[in-house]
Amino acid sequence: MDEVRLFDTATRQIQALSASNGKALKFYACGPTVYGPAHIGNFRTFIIQDLLSRVWTAAGGKIEHVRNLTDVDDKTIRGAREAKLSLDAFTKKWTEIFEKDGQALGLIAPMKEPKATDFVPQQIALVKRLVDGKHAYEAGGSVYFRVKSFLGYGKLSRLDEREVREGASGRADADEYAREQAADFVLWKAHKKEDGEVFWDSPWGKGRPGWHLECSAMAMQILGETIDLHGGGSDLIFPHHENEIAQSEAATGKPFVKHWFHVSHLLVENRKMSKSLGNLYTLKDVIRQGWDAFDLRLVLLSGHYRQPLNFSWDTMTAARHGRERLGRVRAGLVEAAKGAKAEVGEWGTFRAAWDALREDLETPKALAAVYTAATSVELRRKAGMSVEEAAKELAGLDHILKVLGVNVQFEKQTEAPPEMKALAKAREAARTAKDWKESDRLRDELAAAGWEVRDGAGGWRLVRKPGTP
Ligand code: AMP
Ligand code: ZN
Repeated sequence: MDEVRLFDTATRQIQALSASNGKALKFYACGPTVYGPAHIGNFRTFIIQDLLSRVWTAAGGKIEHVRNLTDVDDKTIRGAREAKLSLDAFTKKWTEIFEKDGQALGLIAPMKEPKATDFVPQQIALVKRLVDGKHAYEAGGSVYFRVKSFLGYGKLSRLDEREVREGASGRADADEYAREQAADFVLWKAHKKEDGEVFWDSPWGKGRPGWHLECSAMAMQILGETIDLHGGGSDLIFPHHENEIAQSEAATGKPFVKHWFHVSHLLVENRKMSKSLGNLYTLKDVIRQGWDAFDLRLVLLSGHYRQPLNFSWDTMTAARHGRERLGRVRAGLVEAAKGAKAEVGEWGTFRAAWDALREDLETPKALAAVYTAATSVELRRKAGMSVEEAAKELAGLDHILKVLGVNVQFEKQTEAPPEMKALAKAREAARTAKDWKESDRLRDELAAAGWEVRDGAGGWRLVRKPGTP
């Protein structure tokens, strides 16, 4: 198989990925907290993970991709109470919406999507194992991890001791006064009034699992005590993943994860997304503006995953133009290939894009290579291309689009009505006469009616402006 290399957060190096059992790459991704719609930032992380899975498969590997659903925590419990629904009914509703959005964005369903609430016995067993090994202690009906009992604490995030002391408990509770040390984090939470009906019986009384613990228990139960790859957004490095390492390795004495994979955050207009700033977007918001989910997928792939990416509506316009262009190049190849088929696995001129993807998922480089190859193919096709060559390039283009998970075939290209075409023709005439004022006026008139005139080598075209219903 082709080599696939990826940056590892723990060693800070780009390293070849490998399946340690020689069969399938065991990949655990921290999934969504299902208390509301996932935002486009969450989807940046999930799309990059999906890309990794597609790249690994295209390279000839097999993958066991597990992405959990966090369906019990403070946010889901509060949400269910406010919606006057059971926790189960509430999280089910948001899980379904998440799955639908994911499908629209081209996410391949992982092998398993475990719900935290389906693994409570395994979580309790893991807590017991840690208590027995003196890595955890009970206090006030809750159980805490004793951070100083685990020497490797902080190795992933390379925090110094002071930072560990201040931050390890993460999503902390106000009533965690019973901890021996501020750095200790909760594994099992004693039942509180606000939790209502949400509790399980345990050796420490009624309660529920802590968030960090859920992931360790599910990952080890499904994929084994040592997994090949573990990922999430960069906000999860500390404390979530640091705590996962501590719990898992203290319990098993084995390395928990061979390779750590983190995706930098998506920003909107250069700021952190937040409800209060009014810049928190979901897929629904994007679709409502007239865009296609694949335009968004392409935008979310346009930046390298280790850099923050800034979302703006202009980036969506650029992505739409890119998809349309690739769609036209593809249509030209389909015609020139006359039904001929190339060999499976063919890359044609698109091989450079593939090589960029398997070297640390260099999507900006890969997309630039796709557009360069498309230009070259288009020039050659116009100059006269053999059926075999067209079939080979078409296979290469389809291959790379499959790995990127981006569809460039548009279902319906709305035909402009005659009066709009007449305006476009009049604009063209004004331009020929160098009457720029009139041509601008006509362009604005078209724009106000929701049509954009695009000038290209073959003359003008009218395209429905995204954002117009
Ligand atoms: P959550 O639903 O909050 O548990 O997050 C689901 C995933 O999205 C996690 O891997 C987070 O690290 C990731 N995430 C959260 N915010 C962003 C963002 N703005 N950009 C990229 N990933 C994010
Ligand atoms: Zn997790």
